Amino acid sequence: MLTATTQYLLQDVFEASDLFKGLHRIRRRAVAWGEKTNPVVVPHSALVISEQMVLDRINLEAAPGDWEPADPAEWTIIAAREPTQFSEHNFGARTASATQVTIRDEAASDACWIESQPEGWLFLLPIGPLEGWLLSVGAPVESMLAASRFIGGNIAEIQQGSSRFSSHPRIAEPLAGPGWIACGTAALGFDPLCGDGAGHATREAILAAAMIRAANKGADTESLIEHYRMRLLAGFRRHLEVCRDFYQSGHSGPWWNQQVLDLNRGLEWSEQQLRQFPGFRYRLNGFSLEALS
Ligand SMILES: Cc1cc2nc3c(=O)[nH]c(=O)nc-3n(C[C@H](O)[C@H](O)[C@H](O)COP(=O)(O)OP(=O)(O)OC[C@H]3O[C@@H](n4cnc5c(N)ncnc54)[C@H](O)[C@@H]3O)c2cc1C
Repeated sequence: MLTATTQYLLQDVFEASDLFKGLHRIRRRAVAWGEKTNPVVVPHSALVISEQMVLDRINLEAAPGDWEPADPAEWTIIAAREPTQFSEHNFGARTASATQVTIRDEAASDACWIESQPEGWLFLLPIGPLEGWLLSVGAPVESMLAASRFIGGNIAEIQQGSSRFSSHPRIAEPLAGPGWIACGTAALGFDPLCGDGAGHATREAILAAAMIRAANKGADTESLIEHYRMRLLAGFRRHLEVCRDFYQSGHSGPWWNQQVLDLNRGLEWSEQQLRQFPGFRYRLNGFSLEALS
């Protein structure tokens, strides 16, 4: 799901105002968060698109196989997670499972649905009329659906088989070094509750490209790497803060308390890292990095 901000960002990067034309839109966000809270419905502006559909719609001038660099590249962008390459700081241990579902009523298909429960939360994301993905975080989808006071009523059928993935915030260390930069999935992992992973990955790619151009023009590599690291850390800290607000208000009980403890650990760690940083020496202007005077 792409938020309006990420849609604009990607349209801008690829200079294609019609990049997301004709896709399924999410116009409402229906939320039952907190044990005593009644469900609320608020306007939302997002769309749903798969990785392959994004790739099909981006008009790349040259496919990777068609392009041969004259010289070996001076910088490597690491865009996929290589477990042996980095150590990783994990702030939590929750896993999520994603299950394909059939939605009961077409009227429910233009909203995303979120519900907290004593041991986790459910998220229903329609990907078109009557079809969607159900994300269950913290407990198995069957038990959460059985206990559901809100989302369960929207689901006609769940498909067999689901994929599981980590859904807690995590950050690689180091994030960059001389001649290489970790970007997107390789650098940061977001909680799907409030993560804008695709938007973050895009912003990291813009910054990484700007950093390489600045290095090629003679800027000091070490300070550029430090700038990149601190920008990502600041974004990660902001994500942890937003997550903590959600987990503090989701429900009472041991599962929720543990999530808040893990997030507090992440916040302490990030703040400690950021305290050692003397301040930003560059600023991004469009797609270029400028030294601050
Ligand atoms: C189930 C799930 C749901 C999510 N939902 C959302 C959402 O709704 N909105 C949102 O903004 N973010 C969401 N995210 C997060 C989002 O997918 C990531 O933050 C984002 O995709 C990061 O983009 P990326 O290009 O860095 O990495 P990816 O999208 O992970 O792309 C990495 C690519 O590298 C390829 N690859 C991996 N290893 C290799 C290799 N060794 N060699 C070559 N290629 C390789 C992979 O196949 C993949 O194509 C979700 C994540 C998950 C797991």
